[in-house]
Amino acid sequence: MIWQTTVTYLLTTHTWHDSVNIGGVSHNVSISTIESILAATAGHEAEREKYLANATGVLGNIVSDVIPLEKLPASYRANFTASTNEKLEMWPADWLQVEFVPSASGSPAETNPSGVGDMGILIVAAISRSNVTISSNNMSDAPVAIDPSIISSPKISPGANITSDVELLEVIKTKIGGIHHASATCMMGAANESMAVVDSHGRAFGVEGLTVIDVSSLRFTPPGHTQAATHCQAEKLVADVMNEW
Ligand SMILES: Cc1cc2nc3c(=O)[nH]c(=O)nc-3n(C[C@H](O)[C@H](O)[C@H](O)COP(=O)(O)OP(=O)(O)OC[C@H]3O[C@@H](n4cnc5c(N)ncnc54)[C@H](O)[C@@H]3O)c2cc1C
Repeated sequence: MIWQTTVTYLLTTHTWHDSVNIGGVSHNVSISTIESILAATAGHEAEREKYLANATGVLGNIVSDVIPLEKLPASYRANFTASTNEKLEMWPADWLQVEFVPSASGSPAETNPSGVGDMGILIVAAISRSNVTISSNNMSDAPVAIDPSIISSPKISPGANITSDVELLEVIKTKIGGIHHASATCMMGAANESMAVVDSHGRAFGVEGLTVIDVSSLRFTPPGHTQAATHCQAEKLVADVMNEW
């Protein structure tokens, strides 16, 4: 049910696209965390040396060793409204929808010296589009507005007293945010699409000789993380440019 309401919210909002971090569920844990390992390694010096030498050791760990993604099971999707399910059909049938980011950290160390285990939850098939309105063609000028347009957690989080769908939704609405995968501000598309800025070769409509090759010319933020997809996009679009020469 909570998924249904959340996804419906995400459908209501354009020009910049990001996956959505809806926070997570946190428990006290007694396993080793990066902070507890570092605390046991006398001033981090040995770990620092290992990292500087060949990027190994605990400092080379990004906290989550395993990141599963899934398409929500049909039994969950059956609770979505017809409109939500219809909009989700814009993605290919095997498109992943949700990502889980398990992690164990020491924070907040003051209150939980044993460490905190989190199961972060990201919606990677978000349909909402956000807005960034620029004030000039100079990138040093601050934008007029950055509007994430997304419904934006102790159990430690969201708290033992948070049990109903309504309460969970309120937590999600205050905690939700993007995951630094802002994409598609120069969205790829067909010439007659109102939001499209570049064609399938990355060439800007109406501007001779301008090709946009970065995360902004993706059509939408990919499920999972953007860096590899941006590299793939660049390989393809650079080849297109070379072929034109
Ligand atoms: C905090 C954070 C965490 C992230 N974590 C991950 C992750 O774990 N995994 C993942 O896959 N993705 C992650 N991403 C997303 C990923 O980093 C970006 O989607 C990706 O780097 C975008 O590539 P890009 O080439 O479009 O832009 P960028 O990588 O930002 O490259 C733009 C380059 O242009 C340069 N530049 C800017 N202005 C000028 C100028 N006027 N003249 C010359 N050069 C200029 C900049 O210095 C920069 O080097 C993260 C992003 C952030 C912000």
